[in-house]
Amino acid sequence: MSSMVAVAEEAMRNLPDLRSRFGESIRLVSGPIATPDELRALTEGASGLLVTLQSIRADHIEALPDSVRVIGRAGVGLDTIDVEAARARGIAVIYQPNYATNEVADHAAAMTLAVTRKLRSADELVRAGWGKASDLGSIRSLSVSTAGVVGTGRIGRAFIERIRPFVAEVVAYDPAQPVEVPGVTRVDTLPELLRRSHLVSLHVPLTEETRHMIDAAAIEELPDGAVLINVSRGGLLDEAAVAAALHSGKLGGAGVDVFQDEPPAEDSALRDAPNALLSPHVAWYSDQSGDRLASWSAADIESFLADGRIAHGVVA
Ligand code: NAD
Repeated sequence: MSSMVAVAEEAMRNLPDLRSRFGESIRLVSGPIATPDELRALTEGASGLLVTLQSIRADHIEALPDSVRVIGRAGVGLDTIDVEAARARGIAVIYQPNYATNEVADHAAAMTLAVTRKLRSADELVRAGWGKASDLGSIRSLSVSTAGVVGTGRIGRAFIERIRPFVAEVVAYDPAQPVEVPGVTRVDTLPELLRRSHLVSLHVPLTEETRHMIDAAAIEELPDGAVLINVSRGGLLDEAAVAAALHSGKLGGAGVDVFQDEPPAEDSALRDAPNALLSPHVAWYSDQSGDRLASWSAADIESFLADGRIAHGVVA
């Protein structure tokens, strides 16, 4: 008999493909799940639940019927799911840390190059008529710059591989990851990394410890005109402090793919900060990673329900 898996409506744009691929083994039903009541209605009779960025809090977990044995998080971060509450009910949570490592690292590198080369302003100059190099203001050559990488897990290391050929030096800070990365100087504290880095890219999870790790005090440690890149989680930045530093010129530019609130409020300070390049949480995205994520997430739920084993993701 096939299992039924409930899918948060926004979760899977390629739901029709998944339905045809998994039709024999899992039946996918979709619907909105904003409130615990909606979640209960959707998951009635289901063995599994599949979500992307939908927040699954303790009250959502509480509302799940006993039939649900597994939650598939189609993505990397677990900050949207109350894993402890799931564990307390004996529900496994499977996430997919590997589906878009290259895409996210590419996006961070692309933002680094675009922001340091001021491509957004250069594009605007041509569209408005023409311009001179001096209209762009100061540009520091990457060849004499130090890149600081915070977090040397999967994406941090992939970012280092991409950015190392462009810069004079790469320094990295990650207290829990002592593995040496070739060509990288490790530093022992975040302030030391910040003092040395002309550009900083963040590749850490959002936790109570990392929330607002880049605040006004952290920005003060940076050399004047430094560039900040965040494709990890919005909560890592004190957005008001970052926007103020862009206005004052303390920060020379920022590339930001993730926001405290998504979408950011109309009057969010980052929206009209100078030299900010923004993207709507799409660093993970490519045709291939989208397909990978959907099919890996569904396949892992299917095999977990069948025999407790999974081939792609990780059980939290
Ligand atoms: P990972 O677990 O492989 O690596 C994270 C690293 O951060 C670990 O090595 C850990 O030791 C380190 N770390 C934890 N706390 C730290 C701290 N206080 N200071 C320094 N280092 C610390 O994770 P990953 O797969 O590389 O993902 C990194 C981030 O990318 C996550 O926040 C994830 O949510 C985000 N992400 C974003 C997108 C997107 O589309 N924008 C897509 C995928 C992942």
